[in-house]
Amino acid sequence: MIVMEFNLDNLVRENIKKMTAYSSARHEFSGNASIFLDANENSFGSPIVLPSPHHCEPGEAREGSGVRFNRYPDPLQLEVKDKLSKIKGVPPQNIFLGNGSDEVIDLLYRIFCEPGRDNVLIFPPTYGMYEVCAEMNNVKVKKVNLTDSFQLDIEKIENAIDAYTKLVFVCSPNNPTGNSINRTDIGVILNNFDGIVVIDEAYINYARQKTLIAELTEYPNLVVMQTVSKAWGLAGLRLGMAFAATPIIELMNKVKYPYNINTATQILALEALENIDWVNEHIATTVVEREKLKNELLQIPVTENVFPSDANFLLVKMKNARDIYEKLCEKGIIVRDRSKIVLCDDCLRITIGTPNENNQLAQELRNIKSD
Ligand SMILES: *Cc1c(COP(=O)(O)O)cnc(C)c1O
Repeated sequence: MIVMEFNLDNLVRENIKKMTAYSSARHEFSGNASIFLDANENSFGSPIVLPSPHHCEPGEAREGSGVRFNRYPDPLQLEVKDKLSKIKGVPPQNIFLGNGSDEVIDLLYRIFCEPGRDNVLIFPPTYGMYEVCAEMNNVKVKKVNLTDSFQLDIEKIENAIDAYTKLVFVCSPNNPTGNSINRTDIGVILNNFDGIVVIDEAYINYARQKTLIAELTEYPNLVVMQTVSKAWGLAGLRLGMAFAATPIIELMNKVKYPYNINTATQILALEALENIDWVNEHIATTVVEREKLKNELLQIPVTENVFPSDANFLLVKMKNARDIYEKLCEKGIIVRDRSKIVLCDDCLRITIGTPNENNQLAQELRNIKSD
């Protein structure tokens, strides 16, 4: 591994350093006023009003008895960040919010990776968006497969990194394998790689391992991604989070589209963040169901192996994954066929359902055997 001092300035693309961020009306004036005639919004309101338990604040989206949409949203989503800050124990200036984690991934490419020159490092089998975003941005992807136990191959990783490697993506717990990546191995990369280390913690709420958010003060090159799409039950809201040192957050704010998180998402996220008990209850249920389903699957003849999972899904090796996938489809049960993915021969990825859904799945799998 090339050991150098981490220097953010050296990593950022020249055009990004030089560009001037768009300055929106809501950005130039964000104080209190009663008449807003600065953004060419519709002064008469919006044809729909979202009923909301939130109180009204003049000049904001919340007017009268509910939420209106005629005003542009807060470009920096300060209220949402404030609430998240208390939940996550991170100052708001270390939080970035994106239109899903996918926006965060794309922004990191656009900030750090010079198309046609730079490369990123990923560890298959893993989340597909890292590679899709690389192709979209004309950035080369270097791949070092996980080991047979789905852990990082540190020696091969050291050899793969070169002077043009800008980003390393570690997904932990990993999708589609479900396991957490060893903390010590992540530490080795964080300590020795002078580019950006992205830890994708989409499934962290289901894991025994702790989040790396607590390590942000130690590592200026660490970006932790989380999302409300999984444990928070809000995949339809499109809200991803990145936690990082302030200079990285500022770069992301500079490059993002000005109003990347819409008013509905901000208001609904604020409401949802009040319901942390709902989230914790369903994390507990999901983990119990995961272990139950795992034991259940291991009793079924078509199952070859169920891999250890720290997530809300199981990677299951089958006797003939494609055949079983199709038979489940016929019964109206859709799982993810991962059998063509490296290290996942004959594997299906099965999301943990409700107890009833899991029972039906197990029932159908038992029937396939008797065909
Ligand atoms: C589901 C998932 C996400 C979530 O992406 P969003 O765009 O926030 O919905 C991110 N990373 C991984 C590995 C995932 O599996």
